[in-house]
Amino acid sequence: MAKVPADYIIYGDYVVTVNTAMDVISNGAVAVKDNIIIAVGDATTLFKKYPEAKVLGGKGQLVMPGLVNTHNHAPMVYLRGIADDLPLKEWLEEHIWPKEGKWVGSEFVSDATKLACLEMLQGGTTTFADMYFYCDAMARSVKSVGLRAVLGETGFDFPTAAVKSLAEYFQRAEEFIQLWQDEALIKPSIAPHSPYACCPETLKKVQHIAHKYNAPIHIHVAETEWEVQEIKSKYGKRPVEHLDAIGFLNEHVIAAHCVWLDPHEIEILAKRKVGVAHCIESNLKLASGIAPIPAMLREGVKVGLGTDGAASNNDLNMFSEIATAAKVHKLFAKDLTALDAKTAVLMATKRGAEVLGYNNLGFLAPGALADIITLDLERAHLLPLYNVYSHLVYAANAADVVNVMVNGEILLHNGEVISCDVAEILAKAHEWNRKII
Ligand SMILES: [Zn+2]
Repeated sequence: MAKVPADYIIYGDYVVTVNTAMDVISNGAVAVKDNIIIAVGDATTLFKKYPEAKVLGGKGQLVMPGLVNTHNHAPMVYLRGIADDLPLKEWLEEHIWPKEGKWVGSEFVSDATKLACLEMLQGGTTTFADMYFYCDAMARSVKSVGLRAVLGETGFDFPTAAVKSLAEYFQRAEEFIQLWQDEALIKPSIAPHSPYACCPETLKKVQHIAHKYNAPIHIHVAETEWEVQEIKSKYGKRPVEHLDAIGFLNEHVIAAHCVWLDPHEIEILAKRKVGVAHCIESNLKLASGIAPIPAMLREGVKVGLGTDGAASNNDLNMFSEIATAAKVHKLFAKDLTALDAKTAVLMATKRGAEVLGYNNLGFLAPGALADIITLDLERAHLLPLYNVYSHLVYAANAADVVNVMVNGEILLHNGEVISCDVAEILAKAHEWNRKII
């Protein structure tokens, strides 16, 4: 057998491939060359085939694709826990927006994003989609930690913490796309806040920019019951119907939340191939409602999982999203089969990547991007082990992640973050904590 070089072999007791057959390989391994997976299979065979490769993972570990968080506002980690358990209007208008108005700037975004990336990295998230202000500062911080991200400047019809006018917003959003479009790990997008905060003219202009650069559009849709009433009173249609009527929906749209949908809107999302970011914990905490995920899956809507910002979650832990989604939909549907473990893992990996427009990410197979994590299985809460999907959804947690590779680069090695200065990021968080308090 010809010896093709590989840079790394990542191995473990189980390789959860999330390939089309959802294969799990016992004593399996993944070979990586540059930023691409070149082989997946039996560990002994791959060690023989690639004797020169460096080794990651080990006995007692589980190898799987990195997790994909499809909806976030990363810099909001600095507002984590600043106000909770209040009515939505009071929470936003008296706490979150005034704090953002006072503190949000490029320095806040830059420092806070590093903390968010550190949290995601330590919990096995390798890709995330984000909408916030000062995306350029955000992108620099994401790059410095080494994660993969789809980032879009958020826009409203009114002035924000970042821009004085819509014209300034469009300019800033377009410049961001131009500046970062050739970057390997950053996919620039554009992010109008929602159909209630952006009128059809704004959305048309956004669409024009997105089309020009083939960039994804990230938007909140049908998050609350109030929004449905608001859009109905303004446009005579429900939110998804309204967006479809103005020609806004297609496979480049990432629609966050989609809680309040009727069956016709679910059909529209499936037909237009819109990606949905399901943020169960944020929806629960803000009492927004429960998105009809089983119905969306039955209709063939692409659904991934997301944390939303840490002010409404309050962490960026995707293992916890997986567990919560799998449990809440059982209860809500009064059906134990409503969202099974395999489907939950698929949504947190490959399906999430598809929502963000990647077709070579979120699974382990030759040709896929090398975003790989390993979990330590030698822990009391993970033994014994009969079914790996069951453990990933109902027993594992973020702290079990011990190795993280993104695009062929190791960021977390045997539990130690090696791609950024952890002490410095934590010290900055303390500094901002003192200031904001
Ligand atoms: Zn959001």
